[in-house]
Amino acid sequence: MRKKIVAGNWKMNTTLAEGQALASEVIHMVEDETNGEVHVVLIPPFTHLYPVHKLIGSLREKHIYLGAQDCSAHEKGAYTGEVSAAMLQSVGVDYVIVGHSERREYHAEGHDLLAKKALRVLEHGMQLIFCCGEPLAIREAGTYLEYVETQLRESLFALDAESWKRIVIAYEPVWAIGTGKTATPEQAQEVHAHIRRLIAGRYGDALAHEVSILYGGSCKPENAAELFAQADIDGGLIGGASLNARSFVDIVKARQ
Ligand code: PEP
Repeated sequence: MRKKIVAGNWKMNTTLAEGQALASEVIHMVEDETNGEVHVVLIPPFTHLYPVHKLIGSLREKHIYLGAQDCSAHEKGAYTGEVSAAMLQSVGVDYVIVGHSERREYHAEGHDLLAKKALRVLEHGMQLIFCCGEPLAIREAGTYLEYVETQLRESLFALDAESWKRIVIAYEPVWAIGTGKTATPEQAQEVHAHIRRLIAGRYGDALAHEVSILYGGSCKPENAAELFAQADIDGGLIGGASLNARSFVDIVKARQ
């Protein structure tokens, strides 16, 4: 059975005090209101990772995890401002996002760099959340399946099958991120099914069946249930709605 996952990417939001308050609220609500079936990942800014790790404490056993928004492609050394996979692992990070569209767009991160980052995450024993998804012009040109295929092939398909036990894919159409424009359940399902077919073609059906594929892009309590009802949508990567504990936990409940 593949994992159901709802991950909240806080991006560059919240001071430390605000982040601790948000994490505590989410943790209490998840404990009180959910059945523990969904893996919940809190993904605060780097500066909040260790304090949020402390708040999560032993609740990992109840499937509440800590995630980071990015990591360096380098192991260590003179790379001012970067944060390595070893550092993330040392503060209790379980999941690391690589390839978010905001990193691809604003920091010109390409396939090769993302392949190196993915490898670092996996080498340090963490789970990888690898983002893919097409911009609006590609959606309108009708070549989005090929676009997503290239993103996955170029950054991940050189990895061995064993590594894929710790890979989660997040399909996030760029035109839906932070825009309020959600992909319809059918649009999302089409790409999710395609991604699973690609993984099956490269690694076989059994492995493809085990990989969790999340949807991201203006997911909120009002649309989460119909997205999650699709056969190949295993959960969500949530941006804006993860900054409100009530909204985020309602999305978790929609995934149960
Ligand atoms: C994201 O950035 O991963 C995301 C899905 O953002 P939002 O939910 O705000 O569209």
